[in-house]
Amino acid sequence: MKKIVFVFFISINILSQTDAETIKSIYNNSLSNGKSYEWLDHLSNKIGGRLSGSLNAERAVYWTKSELEKIGLDKVWLQPVMVPKWVRGNPEFAYIETAPGRTTSVNICALGGSIATPASGLKAEVIEVKNFEELEKIGRKNIEGKIVFYNRPMDETLIDTFKAYGGCVNQRYEGAVHAIEYGAVGVIVRSMNLAIDDLPHTGSMTYEDIPVKNRIPSAAISTSDADMLSSMLKMDKNIKFYFKQNCKQMDDVLSYNVIGEITGTEFPNEYILVGGHLDSWDLGDGSHDDGAGCVQSMDVIRLLRLSGVKPKRSIRVVLFMNEENGLRGARKYAEESFAKGENHIFALESDAGAFTPRGFYFDTDKNNFDQILSWKSLFKPYLIHFFELGGSGADVGPLKTPTNVLSGLKPDSQRYFDHHHSSSDTFDAVNKRELELGAATMTALVYLIDKYGLVNNPKL
Ligand SMILES: [Zn+2]
Repeated sequence: MKKIVFVFFISINILSQTDAETIKSIYNNSLSNGKSYEWLDHLSNKIGGRLSGSLNAERAVYWTKSELEKIGLDKVWLQPVMVPKWVRGNPEFAYIETAPGRTTSVNICALGGSIATPASGLKAEVIEVKNFEELEKIGRKNIEGKIVFYNRPMDETLIDTFKAYGGCVNQRYEGAVHAIEYGAVGVIVRSMNLAIDDLPHTGSMTYEDIPVKNRIPSAAISTSDADMLSSMLKMDKNIKFYFKQNCKQMDDVLSYNVIGEITGTEFPNEYILVGGHLDSWDLGDGSHDDGAGCVQSMDVIRLLRLSGVKPKRSIRVVLFMNEENGLRGARKYAEESFAKGENHIFALESDAGAFTPRGFYFDTDKNNFDQILSWKSLFKPYLIHFFELGGSGADVGPLKTPTNVLSGLKPDSQRYFDHHHSSSDTFDAVNKRELELGAATMTALVYLIDKYGLVNNPKL
């Protein structure tokens, strides 16, 4: 009998999978037996857009919690967090007026956090600028009483479209603050979109500490209508712009981060986090941003198990609340985690769309990065080649320590901003295979970090 047991163990050893085989198994399981697409279908089509503080956001919290419970984790819980609640109200309405009674309708949407226009709308002349410096040059006497129209397009020559977004987004985020300084009565911003189309793209904006009575309404205009407005202004700078929106900032409400965990078999106090954000904007159903990141993260532990991996370290999936207009969930998670002395050796976020994965961005030091680079060839069969230092993601950012690794999945970004924050961020814009490849790519890296740990990680 003893002899038989001995032979059995030997054969297990011989049969133990290499890293390449385990990673192949992870990809096979995601592509043939993944849950991410089915989950996204429910989140997008049965629940829909999940603006912080909305009923849909609450439904998403309870539904994802119950799905995580079904996959048999050691613990699933909700972490309470107060979040801002902004509501869009009735659909916005806007037109360009070239002469009294001669109007052309345009597509706009209120920016998240904006105040409403007066109930009868707001009509004023328009001053077009590309940046804040131009406001200074034009001066208060030419801006006062007008609507500032920020029209700097995303740079189409940048291959990483997130860089093009980064080069423009201050118009949307801080545009009102600068326009108020010069006495403007409203802000219209060109949508952050590389495509020329009719869809306005929303997103967060700030008034900083400007008193409520001095705030001005702010909206995004579609790229196509931004081009039209610009060309009309070149012919006649006296044309007027009218818009009406009745959005409103309400009191903060209670919401939750959704967290699931399996306890590591050897190093239970070392945490590996995978996550995305559960809230979304309200114009679409938030499939790319960031339903995809949530369902990919939810599938990581399942895929590890299906591939025969028993994690040595504790693995947590975290669905953060309120990334889009406050980042309250991420701050709350990090605050409580640091207060408890939890050691997050690795935190990986997927929040760049569900397109074909290309690799990862990392935020860490050279020792950890060199260790990760030593695994790069294992990803070659899956065309995953992008391993670069340079950031991670908004939700994992607050977990930074001098020794850990933060990371963001890096999918192909060419089409992301066609959908981002617009009514076309919907389930039909997500490709099943691409979504599943992303889930597998995340799982493969989690597998390696779990197996080998980090060179830099102090044992607590
Ligand atoms: Zn996002």
